[in-house]
Amino acid sequence: MNTPDKKLIIAIDGHSSCGKSTVAKDLAKKIGYTYIDSGAMYRVVTLFAMRHNLISDDRVDENKLAHLIEKVSISFQYNNEKQRHETFLNKELVEDEIRRLDVSNNVSLIAKIKFVREKMVAFQRELSKEGGVIMDGRDIGTVVFPNADLKIFMTADVEIRAIRRYKELKEKGETISLDEIRENVSKRDFIDENRKESPLRKAEDAITLNNSHLTPSEQLDWIVERMNKIGK
Ligand code: C5P
Repeated sequence: MNTPDKKLIIAIDGHSSCGKSTVAKDLAKKIGYTYIDSGAMYRVVTLFAMRHNLISDDRVDENKLAHLIEKVSISFQYNNEKQRHETFLNKELVEDEIRRLDVSNNVSLIAKIKFVREKMVAFQRELSKEGGVIMDGRDIGTVVFPNADLKIFMTADVEIRAIRRYKELKEKGETISLDEIRENVSKRDFIDENRKESPLRKAEDAITLNNSHLTPSEQLDWIVERMNKIGK
């Protein structure tokens, strides 16, 4: 492919568990860009809130969280040995913990809080100020980077997404049923699409990628083809 001659910002938004991070990481590796996982940030705040008992019965103690969130410092590092991107909460490695189903079940409650979003968006922009970034999330093309050079909106059939997620979590040793995963994925989509603050929606200038029947390498080719048309 043509190597883009400027440090572009590429926004990948879409539904839960449709493989946004897989393609974003693959693309970042291929073109030497930085991958930023905005969802991991909301997951870290969720884990922090859970540890402080700020979530019960689908309700968040927002007053307490507003004070305590100042204590949250999020960072990322690439682990060469494990060949994976890792997320840290106040320098503690939390990569595995933030992917657990209990965190997934609460994250959309945290992500709809305005002050949480403001803090995360400021951090996302700060991390991207040099450009050369591929960021995945829900509001990257609409709110975080409305002028992104390329915007992709990813989706896939809910059943296919649930099965993929089920296999992934099973491989990690989680004891979980397909029904629980399907419910989590659908519920997160519903909350993300219907919240007041920065709801999940396709930016007008985003291109839709439905990857229900694509392999990871086919979807990477699909995006590379679109990239080749820009930056020229
Ligand atoms: O991408 P991931 O599934 O890890 O994101 C977890 C949750 O974080 C989403 O379900 C959504 O509620 C929230 N999120 C968000 N805005 C983003 C990224 C994630 O609201 N930019």
